[in-house]
Amino acid sequence: MRLALGGAAAGLLVPSRSRAAGIADIHLRPLIMLDPGHGGVDPGAIAPDGVEEKHITLSSALELRTALEATGRYRVAMTRTRDVFIPLPDRVSDAMAQNASLFLSMHCDHLPTPDLRGASVFTLSNDASDALAANLAQDENGEDLGGSPIAGASPQVADILASLETRATKIGSQSLARDIQASFRGVVPLLPDPHRSANFAVLRDPSTPATLLEMGCLTNPLDEKRLRSPKHRALMAARITLAINEYFDNYALHRMAG
Ligand code: ZN
Repeated sequence: MRLALGGAAAGLLVPSRSRAAGIADIHLRPLIMLDPGHGGVDPGAIAPDGVEEKHITLSSALELRTALEATGRYRVAMTRTRDVFIPLPDRVSDAMAQNASLFLSMHCDHLPTPDLRGASVFTLSNDASDALAANLAQDENGEDLGGSPIAGASPQVADILASLETRATKIGSQSLARDIQASFRGVVPLLPDPHRSANFAVLRDPSTPATLLEMGCLTNPLDEKRLRSPKHRALMAARITLAINEYFDNYALHRMAG
């Protein structure tokens, strides 16, 4: 309430046109919540030469924020903007509290076979699409030590929460996953079967369309080189931005119409 009064009072000092633009800005521009995986004491996956996932996810998310803001279409928030540990439940509740329109968690894969390379996009499911996906969710949920009824749930409760995801949220998450794959195809390497699903704690907000992007495999030398290259990360940020534009051009409009 104090904020609202403050805003109105401040508005008296500026021309009415920019005040109206400011109000429209808040209501019309969707909020994208970016979630750079890991951080602080949690390095995430570590490449054979010691490069840590947490640094690549943060750089990539900061670059994506810049690319999204440059479109003028979105507001962007991040679950972390520096090398700090944020528990998974806090990442989810942050997105819920800010009423995010989309949640994108950004990670790097590590696979048992160094030959495997490419990005993949995960949506929430209580049944993992494959054994690697199940293992990956287990690893990514490793820091999931409880504390929130949404993300920090026991495996049994997590299954129930995954099944509570609303149909609209599920359609939105799958739509974004498809848009990212389509945008990457032929430009950013993809795993052979790039749309996968598993019960990731960080995707368990039942009301926000959410995907988890594995940007590439730190266990593959070519992917690691790509993920460390600012030029390649900029290309990836540009393709994710196109995918998010596509999402809002198509799916979100249908959703509003429906
Ligand atoms: Zn990760």
